[in-house]
Amino acid sequence: MAKIKVDETRCTGCGSCLKVCPAGCIMLAASDSVRTVTKGTVPYPSLAIIDEGNCTLCGSCVSACSALAKNAPGKNIFNAIEIEAKETPKKDISAHKNVWCYAEILHGKINPVSYELLNIGNTLAKDLGSDLCAVVLGANALSYASELISRGAKKVYVCEAPELENFVDDVYAKCLADIIKTYKPDKFLLPATTIGRSLSAKVAILCETGLTADATSVVIDKEKGLMHVTRPTFGGNLMATITCANSRPEMCTLRPLTYPQAQPDCSRRGEVVSVKFNPIKCSSKAKFVSFVCEEAGEIDIGAAEVIVAGGRGVGKPEGFQLLHDLAKELGGAVGASRAAVDSGWVAYRHQVGLTGKTVKPKVYIACGISGQVQHLAGMVSSDIIIAINKDAGATLMGQSHYALEGDLYEVVPALIEEIRKMKSGVCQ
Ligand code: FAD
Repeated sequence: MAKIKVDETRCTGCGSCLKVCPAGCIMLAASDSVRTVTKGTVPYPSLAIIDEGNCTLCGSCVSACSALAKNAPGKNIFNAIEIEAKETPKKDISAHKNVWCYAEILHGKINPVSYELLNIGNTLAKDLGSDLCAVVLGANALSYASELISRGAKKVYVCEAPELENFVDDVYAKCLADIIKTYKPDKFLLPATTIGRSLSAKVAILCETGLTADATSVVIDKEKGLMHVTRPTFGGNLMATITCANSRPEMCTLRPLTYPQAQPDCSRRGEVVSVKFNPIKCSSKAKFVSFVCEEAGEIDIGAAEVIVAGGRGVGKPEGFQLLHDLAKELGGAVGASRAAVDSGWVAYRHQVGLTGKTVKPKVYIACGISGQVQHLAGMVSSDIIIAINKDAGATLMGQSHYALEGDLYEVVPALIEEIRKMKSGVCQ
């Protein structure tokens, strides 16, 4: 880890570093030290103190201070801040090989997002000339192996134990980290689901490696053999591409519905590697008590073919009943923008977007949603987008296949009425 330090004999306490520090972690403190300059000693009243705990080592203060030194030649002042780079010892990563995908089991079934991972994992493995593998944990883990092989895994690492019947992140993370340390994958893809997010972070820490969370794309740098993992940052306004050069496995979680699913081919053959569960290594203070489904009977927006979503334009919690009515007529689910969720009109599980869910329904009907980048990030790849908005100039109106200009409280009831007429065969 690099260290930042201030040379007391060169700092004049001018405060230029304070002005440029984006982390706000520099302050001036009274100083009684005396600086030696060309003609004797000069007392400076204060000294820059850097709060190392909050410093991001961005180097802005270093540049500002050294720029001042250029205008004070021969004075032995400024150029007072230095970042000392400390070489981290290089790990031997040569034994790591192959691309692994985590097969997530949800309520006794393989979560289809795992097939997306196998699809992109296969591309990465081909680019690297390595094998595609899957890893699955659970009380009946072995029963999933043939499906994973038919979807492209050449090898499936299976850890089957009654202790793994229900997902407890602590237990799963310890078990998975142990498997990784033994079999040494080079790349490891997990889904950016609730399970994948909590599991991947713990596994990365236990394996002392890097993790890029919530990625939207991953490719191989063929020259260096590294994964280039891209994810939105700064509230979706920038895309960051991240690499993990010095530790293995390179890990990332990928947003569901980003890639098509790998299709089954029963003629594929693969190897099953059974891994023993170690109850001592995988002990945990956490215990699974029960699984409580938030609201029975409601369609999950991640799986819905039709989504009727509401935004700030809905204006009140009761307004969502209208959207529920339309969704019910269409056999769909209700989605929401963050503005509607933050207003407390609808629960977070309905949120679509960067900090909500990514959805890809056949039809997405956006009611009173302006279409800011963070919302678009979660729904822009829907097959058909219909926007209903009072403002014809709203971004989503321009991004939609059908833009209905008008008050949602007039348009939505009219749509419901037409659909009901169609269903009863009255429609002309
Ligand atoms: P507004 O932008 O206020 O738009 C309301 C729209 O309703 C307007 O276009 C208006 O013309 C229209 N309208 C008003 N009344 C009516 C009416 N009666 N009939 C028809 N139209 C009407 N946002 C998300 O949605 N999902 C996210 O996951 C998300 N993550 C974020 C993450 C970060 C880090 C940040 C910084 C922001 C995030 N946001 C997210 C917030 C996002 O920037 C916007 O603030 C939010 O999407 C706006 O929601 P909205 O379109 O409902 O509201």
